[in-house]
Amino acid sequence: MRVAVVGGGVAGLAAAYALGKAGLDVVVLEGSDRIGGKLRLAEVDGVTLDVGAEALLARRPEATDLCTEIGLGDAMVHPATSSAAIWTRGALRPMPPTVMGIPADVDALMESGIVTEKPVSRPAPAPHEDVSVGGFVRARVGDEVLDRLVEPLLGGVYAGHADQLSLAAAGAPILALGDDLLAGAAAAVATPRGGPVFAGLEGGLGRLPSALAEVSGAEVRTGAVVRDIQPAHGAWTLALDDGQEAVDAVVLATPAPAAARLLADAAPEAAFVLADVTYASMAIVTFVIDGDVELPGSGFLVPPVDGTVIKGATFSSQKWAWLAESGRTVLRASVGRAGGTALLHQDDATVAAAAFADLRTATGHLPDATGWHVQRWGGALPQYEVGHLERVGAVDRAVAAVRGLEVCGAVYQGVGVPAVIGSARGAVRRLLVDLGD
Ligand SMILES: Cc1cc2nc3c(=O)[nH]c(=O)nc-3n(C[C@H](O)[C@H](O)[C@H](O)COP(=O)(O)OP(=O)(O)OC[C@H]3O[C@@H](n4cnc5c(N)ncnc54)[C@H](O)[C@@H]3O)c2cc1C
Repeated sequence: MRVAVVGGGVAGLAAAYALGKAGLDVVVLEGSDRIGGKLRLAEVDGVTLDVGAEALLARRPEATDLCTEIGLGDAMVHPATSSAAIWTRGALRPMPPTVMGIPADVDALMESGIVTEKPVSRPAPAPHEDVSVGGFVRARVGDEVLDRLVEPLLGGVYAGHADQLSLAAAGAPILALGDDLLAGAAAAVATPRGGPVFAGLEGGLGRLPSALAEVSGAEVRTGAVVRDIQPAHGAWTLALDDGQEAVDAVVLATPAPAAARLLADAAPEAAFVLADVTYASMAIVTFVIDGDVELPGSGFLVPPVDGTVIKGATFSSQKWAWLAESGRTVLRASVGRAGGTALLHQDDATVAAAAFADLRTATGHLPDATGWHVQRWGGALPQYEVGHLERVGAVDRAVAAVRGLEVCGAVYQGVGVPAVIGSARGAVRRLLVDLGD
């Protein structure tokens, strides 16, 4: 039995690996000239590093388990420091303990100077239907906590806006705090959950795609844009620029716009929903500086209300010991949010100069960089807007009604790499049941 996986990002490759393990013959069709999607390594002034995703949430098992299973266990590392800051009110201020931006220690928050007024909890029962994270938080703990803590944290994950993002899909940890958010957050952090929060790979998370492709045993084709998929007598025909591919089943692991086009005939209800998903575009700007520049902690986030160019920065050579070994200082800044991409229309040098100016102001002291790199990510992150879970449910139902068809990837059950791997595994599980019937 032969299965085509369309899209060679981490979702497609994790699906290919799981299908291969189940004994199926797999072809991965990746439209661009390289596999990996949002996982990518680049060399910047002699240092090879991640210019896409760089850290795994280690408290979800899917990614760390997969790395171990495919032989990358020895390369798994944890951040050397996890102390982060918020750049606001003219200074880098230590991030107090929070649950997705809801303060767990109000005294520490006031000491940090991130907000001016002590937040007061206004407990209220959870709404019966999905609402925006912004509306929910503002009503319960006020504007300052939303603007200066929750927004930057959400921005770091989704590059989106709290007033559009779904509480149920993007703000689930906040919803789980109960009626009184401040009391809920304090209780949540009072019960420590052992083990490091994040993990990475020595040499970069961008090592994962090629390792996965290798162990999957799949045939992997790049430059293979799939233009159309059609069911044909219990099987599928895929149209590519240079011909057709006949397979028994298809797993679509592309972002929503491509999935919507490909599902137009096979599952029109799903196509309709996916065509409506919006994406945030952004860029990762990396700087390499000679010598070991002293920087505080692992990096910082910036509240959008402060109007800076960068929305966050990682002091990569502080965070990852393997990068510090180069003897250079490595920083990466992210630029761009949903609906806010004007700077990304400028050339690379302008983007880099603007990002570096912010980094210099935030840290107060940065020697000139010896190398820089701008990685643009158009259509980087799907926006889980209010009602997202219902929309994903509608896609799932429409796809489940079609034999030999599955979907997976960042647009469904979480944008982080572990969630994306989970979605690929779920798709393969369902497909195996479907094909076995
Ligand atoms: C800058 C950035 C930093 C991030 N940092 C982190 C992080 O540190 N930790 C974390 O957990 N998550 C992070 N994320 C999120 C995470 O990396 C992504 O959500 C995840 O990698 C998406 O994987 P995917 O396979 O679903 O999609 P993608 O990586 O987008 O892969 C989809 C693939 O499908 C291909 N494709 C599209 N259309 C077609 C077609 N018609 N035919 C064939 N192929 C097609 C594309 O070329 C692409 O390679 C980050 C995201 C970005 C953008």
